[in-house]
Amino acid sequence: MKKLKVAVIHSHVEQSLQAADRLYQLLKQSGHEIDRDNPDIVISIGGDGTLLSAFHLYNHKLDRVRFLGVHTGHLGFYTDWRDYELEELVNSLCNDQEKSVSYPLLDVRIKYRNGKPDKHFLALNESTIKRGSRTMVADVLIKDEMFERFRGDGLSVSTPTGSTAYNKSVGGAVLHPSINAFQLAEIASLNNRVFRTLGSPIVVAQQEWVEIQLQNSTDYLVTIDQFNIQQDEIKSVEYKIAEERIHFASYRHMHFWHRVRDAFIGEV
Ligand code: NAD
Repeated sequence: MKKLKVAVIHSHVEQSLQAADRLYQLLKQSGHEIDRDNPDIVISIGGDGTLLSAFHLYNHKLDRVRFLGVHTGHLGFYTDWRDYELEELVNSLCNDQEKSVSYPLLDVRIKYRNGKPDKHFLALNESTIKRGSRTMVADVLIKDEMFERFRGDGLSVSTPTGSTAYNKSVGGAVLHPSINAFQLAEIASLNNRVFRTLGSPIVVAQQEWVEIQLQNSTDYLVTIDQFNIQQDEIKSVEYKIAEERIHFASYRHMHFWHRVRDAFIGEV
């Protein structure tokens, strides 16, 4: 029987706290070790937001860690297990054959005007850029070539697994997560006789990169998944597919399009 090092990250709603207690008991009984520092498996209990938090806690160990999500609310996109299936989950850990599926991540580099060093992040869902008070004006460059001048509320850049999150709400396409690409979607662009953008989301290939050059201002808001990056004199933000990928323990497989149908359409 396999013994694994396991970390458990849970939300603080009652159902998640109870599920976490039960999981700790089952893990102990079956001889697995709780190790928050160097886990083989990170189990999140809660919703997609909890899995996003777990990802950001362990995003410097992505080559060693596999993730697994238990949902205690409605079906999530990163959460395959229900809280009443914990026995089955721990049995799967005991029979672990180190199988995993991996998905692309977004590499985000923020550059500043005031000589501050660049900041580098990985996003699992998306990164957005918005402007606090006025219309955001930004030049969009693809592979260092000017593509368009954007005017509007902002831009969203998402991974394939993030395509069903914020990206979908702003009219982006849902991408199958086996596609190694990222998507740029507009948030309420201004389009008239003077201002013109493409007006539709674009899917950018793995070898390509996108740079968003911002006009001089200090009221931009950049998000990385659930985090807001502090406002500052941001000059530009660069996006590409990251070299790192997120790995999920694959003990069971849910067809991606079934999940999309279950989450957004329901019974047909
Ligand atoms: P949260 O956990 O409350 O998540 C908000 C909702 O987004 C939840 O219903 C969650 O299940 C869903 N979600 C998250 N990732 C998803 C994915 N990959 N596919 C489909 N649905 C997904 O809030 P949070 O902890 O702040 O999570 C941050 C995420 O919430 C962001 O990355 C963003 O994608 C999403 N969000 C969406 C909107 C919107 O659609 N208008 C607005 C804000 C945030």
